[in-house]
Amino acid sequence: MNFAYDNIGKRHLLTGIWIALAGLGIEIPIVIDLTIIKPHPIRVGFLLGDVVFASSVAILLIVQALLLRKTDRIILTPIVVFVSTCLTAIATGFLQVAAGGSDLLFIPILSLCMLYLTLVGDTRMRRYGLVLIVLVILSSTWLTGLRSRQFISAAMLNSSVVVIVFLMGSLGVTSVIESFSTESLLRKITDFDDQSKSILEALDFIVPIIAELPYVYKVTALTSSKQGTSIISSFPSIMPEDTLLIDNPALFLAIKSVAPIRSGSKIFIPGGVIETGDLILVLDVGKLTFKKRLRLQELGQGLMTPLIHFTARIQHLNQLELTAKTDPLTGLSNRRVLFERLEVELTRAERSEKGLSIAMMDLDYFKVYNDTFGHQSGDEALKVVASVLSMRLRSQDLLSRYGGEEFCLLMPETTLNGALKILEELRVMINEANLLNQITISSGVTHTFGYENSDRVLKRADDALYNSKKSGRNKVSFLSGPDIANLSERPLG
Ligand code: GH3
Ligand code: MG
Ligand code: MG
Repeated sequence: MNFAYDNIGKRHLLTGIWIALAGLGIEIPIVIDLTIIKPHPIRVGFLLGDVVFASSVAILLIVQALLLRKTDRIILTPIVVFVSTCLTAIATGFLQVAAGGSDLLFIPILSLCMLYLTLVGDTRMRRYGLVLIVLVILSSTWLTGLRSRQFISAAMLNSSVVVIVFLMGSLGVTSVIESFSTESLLRKITDFDDQSKSILEALDFIVPIIAELPYVYKVTALTSSKQGTSIISSFPSIMPEDTLLIDNPALFLAIKSVAPIRSGSKIFIPGGVIETGDLILVLDVGKLTFKKRLRLQELGQGLMTPLIHFTARIQHLNQLELTAKTDPLTGLSNRRVLFERLEVELTRAERSEKGLSIAMMDLDYFKVYNDTFGHQSGDEALKVVASVLSMRLRSQDLLSRYGGEEFCLLMPETTLNGALKILEELRVMINEANLLNQITISSGVTHTFGYENSDRVLKRADDALYNSKKSGRNKVSFLSGPDIANLSERPLG
């Protein structure tokens, strides 16, 4: 049997256990009736049969519960649900035969079985389950000796009870359960939305929850941008066939239309924009009836709203953080970032063989430039200077705007000689930059091999810069650091 509905998880296992316990509660009176009140001649055989069936159900449930505890994954397979439900039904029929069929105590158990299949099964499970349970009723009614006209009426009465439970369960209970699980799921996602700061972390949390939804048996999160599409999260885990999703035209349709799009057995839900591109959730739902597909599409819409809200909020927070770290005119890091990074690099310098180099740079006669060409042109010139300086940077370097027309460059893992070479290159690049009037830059470089007070290091770079200014500007000067042996100002701890 190949069930479309693969997603039977913790919730279903618990439902199964409750229903099994309720069944046991009903079976006890039948057993008492059979063994004490109206002792049946072959009661031992029937009881043994019942014990065998009931314990197979119990073992199936226990094994599933243990596996679930160990792996915390969806492992209650449809086949197990179906087999355990059928075993319960057969065991009940057995007891009924033994008890003589005089009362209808077995009907509630069979109804419970049917209810369970209605709650957790797909259409096929319910259909096979219903046929089996009606057959159990008919055969047990027949075997208990009601073979005349009474058989027809008893069989019809008993089966109609189970069929009514089935219909009521299908129509009423499932829709209540579904809307309840959908609501609690959306609430969980919204709660998390309020706390979480990272989209990837949120997706790792949300994706398995969505996979618990009725009819959904796989959820994949993808991002799509001009650079391409990639899978970022999936539950159950990412499989090779998931890569087929990347070329699915519905993906691009969903991004463009900003509405859930259904394509075959999949629903594509747009989730707003994140750093790596447009976020899309893909729900795998298998073969469904028209009505269920509509419901799932509604659900997709319900998921889309909090997702878009969430991604927009995170993007906004990221933007705020970026704004707090960058200088608005040049786009370089600001002093705050410089001081944070300087602390980190000073600590790291101790372990680095090449040490840390720091340079202060200042444009020469910039006041004159402003006075001659206007403040606006001065601003433009600062932007050009910032972008020229950035061109020569390595990924580990940090260039920041220290103030007005002053810049600070941190060069981790760089010897003093290396740093002087870089600063000399930068000086030439600024000289050659195509600005309204030639702008020159003076720098002061210093170096350290260990933890030093950041104020002291910056002061030394500033002193070196002052030397450049004093000796004619458009120059690079340096002051080497103190002896490593003398570095004793490292804070304790
Ligand atoms: P030097 O450094 O060579 O000694 O001379 P200077 O003229 O550059 O030095 P000073 O520190 O006296 O003047 C710095 C000038 O830089 C003053 C100010 O008008 C200009 N300046 C600082 N920040 C900005 C800015 O954001 N935009 C513009 N357009 N000018 C700025
Ligand atoms: Mg200056
Ligand atoms: Mg200055």
